[in-house]
Amino acid sequence: MSKINKILVGTNNKGKFSEIVDLLPKNIEKVSPNELNIGSPEETGKTYLENSELKANFFCQQSKMITISDDSGLEVDCLDGKPGIFSARWATDHGSFYNASLEILKRVDAFNKDKKLKNNNAKFVCALTIQWPDGKKYSEVGSIDGEITKIKGENGFGYDPIFIPRGFSETFAEMKYADKLAMDHRNIAFKKLKKKIKNYF
Ligand code: IMP
Repeated sequence: MSKINKILVGTNNKGKFSEIVDLLPKNIEKVSPNELNIGSPEETGKTYLENSELKANFFCQQSKMITISDDSGLEVDCLDGKPGIFSARWATDHGSFYNASLEILKRVDAFNKDKKLKNNNAKFVCALTIQWPDGKKYSEVGSIDGEITKIKGENGFGYDPIFIPRGFSETFAEMKYADKLAMDHRNIAFKKLKKKIKNYF
């Protein structure tokens, strides 16, 4: 079994790219799709797992390199798990993550007023897949529970400013980058994946 010394981090999302790079061992050389002029595939899967496998396969085929990709999203309990696998598309459809976050807050507020309760429960979910050019692949899914709150904080990316992980008082966007990275859904999925691929590191 040969050790991984170079890997394509298969995402064109800057926030995710940094996080996946920082989860991987320092001695492995990391390459971005951007450096190889590779765009992103259409996400036609019905689950995070299907989409992460689809992305890893696409970037691996295009680059002929060992590739790690993720698919992730925010699931809001009282919105029946929306935006879920459509988290990135909600931001495109609403013009920005800021606008999509406002839309989530508006809908959660309306639900709670209507039902006369407070259900702000949500979770971030991440599926990670690593694929070799010979087709071998491993995947894992991780999630972190928390609550939706009004927009707070400047750090992070995407929906970080409206999510407080359970047991904490700051949003992901208020926390230090390293603190978020140490606990988030991507880290949880990566820890599980590492158990399967530790001999390649
Ligand atoms: P996709 O995996 O490319 O479909 O994109 C998922 C979307 O969910 C991203 O564009 C992010 O905005 C959002 N998302 C996933 N993980 C995180 C996170 O750790 N923080 C904030 N937003 C996230």
